[in-house]
Amino acid sequence: MIHPNVDGSQHDRIAELGRRVLAGGDITRAEAMELFNLESSGDIFDLLAWANRIREKFKGNRVHLCSIVNAKAGGCSENCKFCAQSAFWQTSAPLYGFVDPEPVRQAAEEAHRNGVTALGLVAAWKGLSEGPMLDEVCERIAELKRLGTVRPDASLGIIKSPRVAERLREAGLECYNHNLETSRRFFPNICTTHSYEDRLETIQHLKRAGIRICSGGIIGMGETREDRCELAFALKAVGADFVPINILNPIAGTPLESQPPLPVLEILKTIACFRFILPRQEIMIAGGRTVNLRDAQSLVFMAGASALMVGNYLTTLNQPVEKDLQMLRDLGLDPRWDAASLDASPHAKTATQSATALAQPAAA
Ligand code: SF4
Repeated sequence: MIHPNVDGSQHDRIAELGRRVLAGGDITRAEAMELFNLESSGDIFDLLAWANRIREKFKGNRVHLCSIVNAKAGGCSENCKFCAQSAFWQTSAPLYGFVDPEPVRQAAEEAHRNGVTALGLVAAWKGLSEGPMLDEVCERIAELKRLGTVRPDASLGIIKSPRVAERLREAGLECYNHNLETSRRFFPNICTTHSYEDRLETIQHLKRAGIRICSGGIIGMGETREDRCELAFALKAVGADFVPINILNPIAGTPLESQPPLPVLEILKTIACFRFILPRQEIMIAGGRTVNLRDAQSLVFMAGASALMVGNYLTTLNQPVEKDLQMLRDLGLDPRWDAASLDASPHAKTATQSATALAQPAAA
């Protein structure tokens, strides 16, 4: 139970939990739910202030920037209810096959010019198996690696075979995005063509191959605060290094097109709660930022975010990169990412340790 102050606020309790995390401790799920259930704007601003202290302690003033390039768009066989690229829904999203090397090169150059650390190669399909397409993907990754201007990342769906993950690693892939999307409980409400376990298994193969995990989810799809809390703890259990938080941008033609937006303070509070639960991870604000947060975008850093996806999203527009870079300069934040902030973490796990944690259902 939460213990209010005489004035009815939760300031002392928030401070108690904040001090514990700053000192290197953890909060429990029950304690995290106390934070997720804060209601008054005074308490939420207090929570943001503590999340900001935690971000500063573990991440300093560095902000990790990443961009994505849609390497294969639309026509996906999966039925994710939020996604404009699913073949199940009638949307106006673009449709094209796997791109030639040139657009990827151009995206890398543009990302480098913008001071972006990583470029993710993203494909709208169920997943990747051994065969000619894997060869082509590996060629693109190897070329990005050779160019040396940005860290090659990828988001290529479900991986069923350890060998696929090894091939990607051998090609030079350092980090793979594969979101858990939401809690295990809520997952069947948003997708039925593959399972939460498929996603966990993919992460397991990647960890074993020595690839860093970028995994997060989408908030605002109709899930509860408990689901958001469960997602954060699941991401901790799988050993995600990067945790993208997307905020649903309802796309016309998808089943979630009429989903009401989350209030801005609810979004900021969620980011802050993730920072309390995941103090050392790169918490990245990704899709849906501009449309959902509007003028409050810069508050994501006070809420504990330490990373930003810049440039356009897969099927929706973001604000211009220069505007994001100006926002960072205005806040005294430095977009030059320091990989040591992850590697120096006393909580950093080896691939084997994290894979073992994954194999334990209770931890996920
Ligand atoms: S698997 Fe990816 S691309 Fe396909 S529908 Fe789901 S989110 Fe969209």
